[in-house]
Formats: sequence, structure tokens, C-alpha cells
Amino acid sequence: MKAVTIKNPADGYFNISNVTLRPIQAGEALVDMEYCGVCHTDLLIASGAQGEHPGRITGHEGVGIVREVAPDVTSVKPGDRVSVAWLYAGCGHCEYCEQGLENLCRNRHESGFDVDGAMAQQCIVKADWAVPVPAGLDPVKATSITCAGVTSYKALKEADTKPGDWVVIYGAGGLGNLALQFAKNVFNLKTIVIDINDEKLTLAKSMGADLTFNASNNDSPKFVHEHVTAGVSAAIVTAPAATVFDQAANVIKAHGTVVAVGMAAGNMQMSIAKMIVDGTRVKGTLTGTRHDLAEAFEYAAEGKVTSMTRLRRMKDINKIVDEMHAGKIQGRAVIDIKSEL
Ligand SMILES: [Zn+2]
Ligand SMILES: [Zn+2]
Repeated sequence: MKAVTIKNPADGYFNISNVTLRPIQAGEALVDMEYCGVCHTDLLIASGAQGEHPGRITGHEGVGIVREVAPDVTSVKPGDRVSVAWLYAGCGHCEYCEQGLENLCRNRHESGFDVDGAMAQQCIVKADWAVPVPAGLDPVKATSITCAGVTSYKALKEADTKPGDWVVIYGAGGLGNLALQFAKNVFNLKTIVIDINDEKLTLAKSMGADLTFNASNNDSPKFVHEHVTAGVSAAIVTAPAATVFDQAANVIKAHGTVVAVGMAAGNMQMSIAKMIVDGTRVKGTLTGTRHDLAEAFEYAAEGKVTSMTRLRRMKDINKIVDEMHAGKIQGRAVIDIKSEL
């Protein structure tokens, strides 16, 4: 079968390889892949920045149809549409897995990183970890929910807000746009979207942001304090820049929460005295659990959130890499695996 694989040595691009999968084992299912989104994380792994992974099949935004299951599998059956997300599997029996924090399992596996991923004609999954895609959800759109969708949904859950609260979303890119939709349409929040790109802010405004602000001068706390007298309960930081985290720490009201999503290099600056006096909470969040993904899928199936996607062919993968690095792709490039012969 055809698969998009990491090169040896890694150079930022991919090979299209002919791969033969091993037979499935207990607890596993074989999935005929239909679609798989191309994520910046895939590019990071292909660059070698996370070590060498020669021959590893990439992809963690996959959707496909179960072809075959091992005899002991009861959670999915042939014909079911399932997803292959970043969280390939947790160990299932550690303190994190047992508390519903499987995304933090110390022995978890990650698709397209330490196990073969979804950008191939077929993929072997741990059946209990392949979250079903609801019938009402377009499988192409579902690919983005497996990654950016569940990540932004989980970030809002971690923010501990209540309906009517104000939330600031830093970064109006793919993650920020989905966070805005979840904030408005699922969590019933009032929203301020902050970015340094006016086009992205215009898009956010058209999608229902109550306020938008261009923070090229790092002055978002002043804007927020002037425009939201009730104060802001949470800041979701999807922009991967340390300076943005510093702003976020000064934007929220007492007992507010800063939720870190964008993987920024460097450290965050915070006044310890202000943190104590204000009871500020700072949380990091990494993707989501199976349960979070199932919930995010349901909201997407109800039409409360959607993503911008464009179908592309597997042979164009390295062109897509260049276009992503050049910032030329609006929304998500999704590989149409079904059309491969
Ligand atoms: Zn991703
Ligand atoms: Zn575990």
C-alpha cells in the first residue's frame, strides 16, 4: 500500500513509500483510510527536530472505515467510520489513564511519531482508542476535529468558565478560529480575538467575535481593561509566542485562568505577587482524551463548529509542505487517500 513516510535522514520532506503492514493482533483493528489532514506537527517531525523516525508513516488527523477487527475486539466493527488522532493509545492502567487524563499518560503512543500514523491507504489502530466519527459529520471536516478541534475544545473545558463570561483568544489561526466557534456556539461565552494579522481578525469578526484587536504593540491588556469592564475570565493562548503569554497573564481578572495551547519556545513572565493576590490559575493542555474527541465530534456534527479544508493528492505532499511553510494554505490541506489507486 501507499504511505507517506518520514525520510532517512529527516530533511523536512516526505517519501511516498510502498509499505506492507503486519497482521493485526489482539485488541487491534485494520482501517481503510479515507482522508488525513496535514498538520504543522507532521512537518516538525519530518524536520528531525524531534529525533529521527526513518520510515515512520506520518499523520494523526485521519478518518477511515474499519475493514477488519481482531477476534477480541468489541468496541468497533467492520464498516464503522473511525478516527486516528494524535493520541494513538494510553497504557490504560496508570494513575492518569484511570482518572480520565489519558492524554497525560507517561506511556502513551502518538500517531505518526512513535507508531505508524494515518497518512496511508491502511492503518492499524488500537480498536478501543479509535473514536467513532458520527454519521452526520462530513469525514473531510472530521479530520480537523481530531487535532485542532479537540485541542481547542479541551482548552475551553480547562478554562472553567460559565455562560456569559468573557474569554480572550490569542491567535486567530486554525486553532484560534475553532476556539472562537466553540467559545461562541458551545460554551456561550463573549469573545475577544487578538492577533497581529488584520485579515485573520476580519475573518474572526465575520465568524462572531464580539471584539477583535491587533496587538502588534503587545498592548492587549490595556485594550481589554478599557473595553470589558466586567473583566475577562480566561485567556486561551493559541499563538506560539512567549510575549503573548506575558500579555495573557495581565489580561484576566482575579481567579481567572490562562490556558496554554500554542507551543512557544522560552519562558512566561508573571508577577508572583499578582498571581497570589489575584488567585491566577495557569494551565497547560495537550490535545484531549477519547471522550473529549467524541464530544467535539458531536458538536461538529450538530454544525456548531466547522473547519476550512481543501482536498489534495498524496503525490503533492512535498508541495503542501512548501506551501505550509510559506503560509499559503488557508485552513487545512487534507489528503484524499480514497482516490489513491
Ligand atoms: Zn495535528
Ligand atoms: Zn496510562
